[in-house]
Amino acid sequence: MATTSQKKTSAQKVYDTFIVGAGISGLAAAIKLKKEGYHDFKIIEKASRVGGTWRENTYPGCGCDVPSSLYSYSFALSSKWSHLFARQPEILSYLESVSEEFNIASLIEFDNALENASWDESRHLWVLDTQKGQYLAKTVIFATGPITESQIPKLPGLDTFKGEMFHSAKWNHDFDLTGKRVAVIGTGASAIQFIPQIQPKVKELFVFQRTAPWVLPKPDMPLNETSKQVIDKLPIIQRGWRKAVAGSLTAINVGLRNPGLLKPVGAAAKQLLKVQVKDKALRKAVTPDFTLGCKRILFANNYYPALQADNTKLIPHGLVQVEGNTVIAANGERHEVDVIIWGTGFDVSHPPIGKKIINAAGQRVSDLWKDSSPEAYLGATLENVPNAFLVLGPNVLVYDSFITLAESQLNYIIDGLKKMKSKGFSRFEIKSDVIKAHNEKVQKHLQTTVFNSGGCKSYYLDQNGRNFAAWPWSLATLKKRLLSFDLADYDVAYEAQRSRSAA
Ligand SMILES: Cc1cc2nc3c(=O)[nH]c(=O)nc-3n(C[C@H](O)[C@H](O)[C@H](O)COP(=O)(O)OP(=O)(O)OC[C@H]3O[C@@H](n4cnc5c(N)ncnc54)[C@H](O)[C@@H]3O)c2cc1C
Repeated sequence: MATTSQKKTSAQKVYDTFIVGAGISGLAAAIKLKKEGYHDFKIIEKASRVGGTWRENTYPGCGCDVPSSLYSYSFALSSKWSHLFARQPEILSYLESVSEEFNIASLIEFDNALENASWDESRHLWVLDTQKGQYLAKTVIFATGPITESQIPKLPGLDTFKGEMFHSAKWNHDFDLTGKRVAVIGTGASAIQFIPQIQPKVKELFVFQRTAPWVLPKPDMPLNETSKQVIDKLPIIQRGWRKAVAGSLTAINVGLRNPGLLKPVGAAAKQLLKVQVKDKALRKAVTPDFTLGCKRILFANNYYPALQADNTKLIPHGLVQVEGNTVIAANGERHEVDVIIWGTGFDVSHPPIGKKIINAAGQRVSDLWKDSSPEAYLGATLENVPNAFLVLGPNVLVYDSFITLAESQLNYIIDGLKKMKSKGFSRFEIKSDVIKAHNEKVQKHLQTTVFNSGGCKSYYLDQNGRNFAAWPWSLATLKKRLLSFDLADYDVAYEAQRSRSAA
């Protein structure tokens, strides 16, 4: 195996920008850079296709829970969606077609993972060691994804399980579930999408629910050829539809920041539960005990019916132990199963990119995030990590499309790169007092939001109960803050200063 030094390329070209990852964010970064006339960038992707989340998650029923009019790029609206809420295969092919249409696919070096990114203070450069060689770049955009690390709890006896076992994000399509006894662990966003798909096939389905989620009806419907043609011919309809969806999500966001306002929605959801779930004991078991919005609100029309099927049993407790093929719930209930499917979500509070970055102080960033989750400025820049940006970093999550959030952040990032070029500085780093004051304010304002006060344990909170994910204000405020890369927030240095200090 080649060592890092053996892999060094002789030319040692210095790129203006290096993009890591070709999911939604990395693709948008490349497209926006090109649009602004930047061509001196490289983009690498560890997999052999674009798509990130939508390439990895292929479980039955996988799809977006934000209407596709909004879950699509502002610069590449599509009239081809099969439903109001698109399914995973079509989102993946949409991303592939966008990457072709904007001539990005040919720029991506696939099957090449970033292994190490170290800041070289003497040259004001990033040294990027990848599987395929070493690169140098003045700036880096880490577009490596917010929700990537599937988590499986370490339970006693798990190693004694002799059946088939996989996580929803690594679905084993070669394994036929027909006629099998299946335990699904978890009732989060992925589980409520795949449970209705597998229930008709399996012999017995045991659904382990630690916390009952809020599930609202999904206002979904198929789009026939005529609707697609109308949308295609009249882009104004598409824009209007997008605006209407954005407007309703803005209303939800107001409620998330003012939980009192969500009470009527919670009451309506409970009423719906009454209509959809006839059995009183089951209804009680699936009624959430926290304020709506504290965890991500889920939308499904087929979840409660699947729970009421004859072959399904809801176990309103977590799985705590496995003994051979017996799965044991927290209340002691035991069931024999052939398959365990983990719908246990993702570890989002320790972004894996931290393991790859060595900051200006020579520290591995993941070491700094070990006992707490990351802090960034506007989710984009990190203390002690000069000339680098994260996309979809901490505390920018607003209840909206992640694509909108990524695009807004990229406007900020590209404004920073433009200022770097026009003003001629070779190094920028977020000021310590600015990032500190920003995060203190973020944390203070999060206290009254439903995420912090709604009485639930969600993936927004890290192991210390700190909310590292949500943005406490409106999307409009976030967008406004991301309009301009304000140089007053950054320490900047010029080439001449670098040369003097290096001498
Ligand atoms: C099941 C699921 C459903 C979701 N549904 C929605 C939804 O309905 N609405 C919504 O708004 N959001 C949803 N999300 C969030 C979703 O992650 C974002 O919407 C979006 O896809 C993030 O795109 P990204 O490009 O930032 O990250 P990703 O899609 O994760 O892409 C990151 C890319 O970086 C690559 N990469 C990572 N590390 C390296 C490395 N070291 N070297 C090279 N390449 C690397 C990865 O291979 C990947 O291709 C969902 C997430 C999941 C998991």
